Amino acid sequence: MNKLNIAIDGPAGAGKSTIAKHVSEHLGILYLDTGAMYRAMALKAIRSGIDPNDKDSVEKLLPKTDIDIRYLNGKQHVILDGEDVSDSLRTPEISKGASDIAVIPSVRIKMVEKQREIASKYDTVIDGRDIGSYVLPNADFKFYVTATVKVRAERRMSELSAAGNLGNRTFENVYDELISRDKTDSTREFAPLIKPPDSILIDTTDLCVSEAVRLVLEYIKSH
Ligand code: C5P
Repeated sequence: MNKLNIAIDGPAGAGKSTIAKHVSEHLGILYLDTGAMYRAMALKAIRSGIDPNDKDSVEKLLPKTDIDIRYLNGKQHVILDGEDVSDSLRTPEISKGASDIAVIPSVRIKMVEKQREIASKYDTVIDGRDIGSYVLPNADFKFYVTATVKVRAERRMSELSAAGNLGNRTFENVYDELISRDKTDSTREFAPLIKPPDSILIDTTDLCVSEAVRLVLEYIKSH
């Protein structure tokens, strides 16, 4: 039987993962954060002394890399070569590395294979950049979540600060990093970040989480 797949795409800091998590909890289905998989690949490269931009070296590393997703008490864990790295993926260095490594088509193909496998087995809310446009073009529902760069940078700043990952960064640094990551994500050749034409736009600039979640759930229930 076909599984329910809800795709949520959008740029960094728009609130996708928070919305996706709440929607999945509300519907009692799985939440798949695909960004974590690119982050794990970036972590592997950095730990191996490889620049995530170095396509040839990353491609050599790829067959020696195993990235698995497991769920413990409903929470996603990312297993890199047998090690649970879920708590090591949220630093600015890994964010940039993930965006750089996600440009490489062979990396994407490997990640997408796993994402499609999970989506075909379970009812899933799946968030990323290319879910509605490339990974699951036939998803039951597609949402595109965005917000102004200023608001997204403010949110990223609070997240980094709360997690103790802000370091010496100023608001300007976070703002610039976000713009740079958006540019890399939306201008890459293979499966770039786009708003799928058949997706529903959710602008969270002036919305709190519960309002955005309500909009998504109302749309799903009314269709
Ligand atoms: O969503 P998150 O910020 O964790 O994603 C980290 C990076 O992984 C993004 O900047 C993007 O380059 C990449 N990514 C992607 N496709 C996805 C999910 C994430 O290219 N489906």
